[in-house]
Amino acid sequence: MDQNLFDIHGRTAVITGGGGVLCRAMARELGIRGANVAILDLRKEAALTACEDVIEAGGRAMGIECNVLDKADLESACRVVLDGYGQIDILVNGAGGNHPSATTAREVMASEDLQQGIGGSFFDLDPSGVHSVFNLNFIGSLLPTQVFARAMAEAGSGTVVNISSMSAFRPLTKIPAYSAAKAAVSNFTQWLATHLAPANVRVNALAPGFFLTDQNRFLLTEEGTGELTARGKKIIAHTPMGRFGNPEDLLGTLVWLVSDASSFVTGVVVPVDGGFSGFSGI
Ligand code: NAD
Repeated sequence: MDQNLFDIHGRTAVITGGGGVLCRAMARELGIRGANVAILDLRKEAALTACEDVIEAGGRAMGIECNVLDKADLESACRVVLDGYGQIDILVNGAGGNHPSATTAREVMASEDLQQGIGGSFFDLDPSGVHSVFNLNFIGSLLPTQVFARAMAEAGSGTVVNISSMSAFRPLTKIPAYSAAKAAVSNFTQWLATHLAPANVRVNALAPGFFLTDQNRFLLTEEGTGELTARGKKIIAHTPMGRFGNPEDLLGTLVWLVSDASSFVTGVVVPVDGGFSGFSGI
């Protein structure tokens, strides 16, 4: 077997949402392995500190403030990356997340939810919250792919990694917009893998299990004490490996998907979940 199958030295990786918890760890790993890393994030400071992390670890990186929902912004980021590194080989569509405004208070409805104006009732969920969560996760993966995969298709090679979720396989209670959007991301991964195959651009997705981060902390831990909520306990009980994931748990699968080690793999969604998706609960 070729020992260099996992080698990504000299390749250029664009990581959206790279200032966040999971994708910051991904950026650092790709940088340590010798890739040029372009970290795009809506929060400029977060992009720049993630960039510093990569450089401190001995890698090469640039941080760019960029909104994944703004095509002009993405096109200008693409020009900066091409000017700096000359090519784009890898795109990780990491920007995404849920928001309290698109979250129901209860797992299943109660009769009081039928009264007008009850906070957290499905019937009164704020449509703008639902829109923004759906758009961030789905359109926020589609637009960067339009921009960066064009450069890959022109060059005749590349890999895209989308970030799906457990909620794509079977919806999680309370988070309808996020679940629908991640199901769309998984579906889009298969569609795009087919569409871009003639250009030798592979498209796959990582589906992380449960990682304790800023966007789900309010659902999984009690404010103040940090104790697990009933939902947090239920997740652990349904995760055969008995723990939340650490960002580092995603890195091996990521490196596999972006390197030649997965050269005939396209259109798959890989769960990295401690067994959650394989366990029926009984
Ligand atoms: P995070 O909130 O730490 O990171 C998300 C990053 O995206 C943030 O830095 C944020 O500034 C950036 N962002 C938000 N809107 C943006 C926009 N419009 N343009 C550019 N950047 C934008 O979240 P995380 O937990 O690291 O999640 C990363 C990805 O993994 C997301 O797609 C998330 O849905 C997914 N995911 C997370 C978990 C988990 O347990 N944390 C599980 C499954 C999937």
